[in-house]
Amino acid sequence: MFPEYDVIVVGAGHAGCEAAHAAAKMGAKVLLCTMNMNTIAQMSCNPAMGGVAKGQIVREIDALGGMSGIISDKSMIQFRMLNRSKGPAMWSPRSQNDRMRFAEEWRLALEQTPNVDFWQEMVSGLLVTDGRVRGVRTGIGLEIPGKTVVLTNGTFLNGVIHIGEKQFGGGRTGESAAKGITEQLVGLGFEAGRMKTGTPPRVDGRSLDYSKMEIQFGDENPEKFSYSDETQPLTEQRTCWITYTNKEVHETLESGFDRSPMFNGRIQGLGPRYCPSIEDKINRFAERERHQIFVEPEGWNTVEIYVNGFSTSLPEDVQYKALRKIPGFENAKMFRPGYAIEYDFFPPTQLKLSLETQLIQNLFFAGQINGTTGYEEAASQGLMAGINAARKVQEEEPVILKRSEAYIAVLIDDLINKGTEEPYRMFTSRAEFRLLLRQDNADLRLTQLGHQIGLADDRRLERMLDKKSDTAKLINDLRQKKLSPDLINEGLEDMDTATVKEKISVEKLLKRPQVGLKEIMDLDNDLKVYLSKYSKDVLEQAEIQIKYDSYIEKEQQMVDKLNNMENFRIPVHFDYLAIPALSAEGKQKLNKVRPETLGQASRISGVSPADLSILTVYLGR
Ligand code: FAD
Repeated sequence: MFPEYDVIVVGAGHAGCEAAHAAAKMGAKVLLCTMNMNTIAQMSCNPAMGGVAKGQIVREIDALGGMSGIISDKSMIQFRMLNRSKGPAMWSPRSQNDRMRFAEEWRLALEQTPNVDFWQEMVSGLLVTDGRVRGVRTGIGLEIPGKTVVLTNGTFLNGVIHIGEKQFGGGRTGESAAKGITEQLVGLGFEAGRMKTGTPPRVDGRSLDYSKMEIQFGDENPEKFSYSDETQPLTEQRTCWITYTNKEVHETLESGFDRSPMFNGRIQGLGPRYCPSIEDKINRFAERERHQIFVEPEGWNTVEIYVNGFSTSLPEDVQYKALRKIPGFENAKMFRPGYAIEYDFFPPTQLKLSLETQLIQNLFFAGQINGTTGYEEAASQGLMAGINAARKVQEEEPVILKRSEAYIAVLIDDLINKGTEEPYRMFTSRAEFRLLLRQDNADLRLTQLGHQIGLADDRRLERMLDKKSDTAKLINDLRQKKLSPDLINEGLEDMDTATVKEKISVEKLLKRPQVGLKEIMDLDNDLKVYLSKYSKDVLEQAEIQIKYDSYIEKEQQMVDKLNNMENFRIPVHFDYLAIPALSAEGKQKLNKVRPETLGQASRISGVSPADLSILTVYLGR
């Protein structure tokens, strides 16, 4: 009934969709096997993409030729560039999305991708012989042969949903849990753990009083995620609102603590520290009199509202009473209660940097199954697992990004070398080279690679090369173009900037902290006409490169130094246990993680600088 597939992707969440698309685009014959085809690319929690550090990841996925950026653009209802008042390393694109359109766009995109077949069923086990995966077994007992398998089961493995004292099996509300895979993998020698996450109640927007809330508009000139010309920025946007909890809300919530699965020990798994439930927030930060609530529409036309900041697993009657004490929510009608979910994950230290498992050849893991949280984190792993599964079949070396090249690399490198005990989400602070890893230059960093491996098309490459050469030309011209002191001193009179005594170049002027191209443009009409030939992207790129030139160069020098270690490969079967001088912990960790390079070895927690020097000597470097 089934041919032998090159890549079988289990699960069509954010990781699975990217994996299936990438592998198929690279020429692999792909089967996307998922429990329910009506929930392809379901946003399980908030209807939003991007945000701090996550927006950078979406741009990186896009630059490599993945789809999350395009799908987000096609389904967005509001766009904001967060942190504009800070330096460019912190600028982070974020969109509010239409939940139903997001899922629909993904499904359409996959249906239009040649080489992707679909099968709707639960996968209950893997076909494994001689330490190598050979396909999957489904719930009704079908055996589907596959050269590689990518597991992206999300929150479904032995998922248990909690609402107050009620507890039932499920992968998400209304969907069944996946059984069989964890047990088989543990039998094969994998270590599994338990994590938890939660989601807020949804309410009827018609029952809210928005006059009691602060309005939150999208950006005046909205941008978009994708570098391609397949999508356009929004011309119309929906607004969101902000309101706050208060003492009364907190007291009502507290009245249900004795029935909370979080506090009475029924939930064992660790939850996301940076996305805590409302009960967790009022418990941990008892001194705070209020917490912010973002009131977010779920789409263009629906009246359903997502109550961001109010994730909870308290009994539904307590949720309802507490909600109605929030300003603007006095008459709120609830569509569905919030809940928490516990699920199995596999500590990611059991993977290689390619996301293939160390234990079973040709088996890859991506997404929440690796202990992460968030759509963007999942999608980026799915993309890399899909790429590397396809390359394994094509007998090509895996694609492994460096920490200095992408947030995606920081994510995977952290997971594999440090592991994670609580749901891992990305932050800018996790990246040591964040001035290099900006949202504005992901295309310059990654599109060439995406094109080389057959994922990013020619048009993308051309656009990136044009942007690169236009930026270089513009920077050069701004270095040559000089402005007179009169023009500058008069034009920038209102700004708190030192006066100029002689002609200086636009490049030099731009290096001044408060002066941007926008201000300089108004000083000289010829310059304005000249600059108007360039796109907004090129102008912004040139400005950032000029302004932060010395900082960027410093980071680049550090990267070059580190790359020496990064490029030094350790033989696959290197015997760490045979080196007596290594510390006991270092030996154990190195043997477990089996780093591929000296650079990777240096980042494994438990491997000391002394261990590293000994290793360097043994490797004859
Ligand atoms: P998922 O999106 O979960 O997709 C898994 C897919 O696999 C589904 O399509 C499922 O049907 C399919 N599947 C599973 N097992 C099988 C099987 N055996 N056979 C066939 N198909 C299978 N993230 C945040 O960043 N912040 C939050 O606050 C947050 N809260 C959340 C609250 C809840 C209740 C849930 C459920 C998730 C929450 N998330 C949150 C997490 C976010 O939804 C995930 O990080 C993201 O969706 C993970 O993507 P994924 O592709 O790994 O898995």
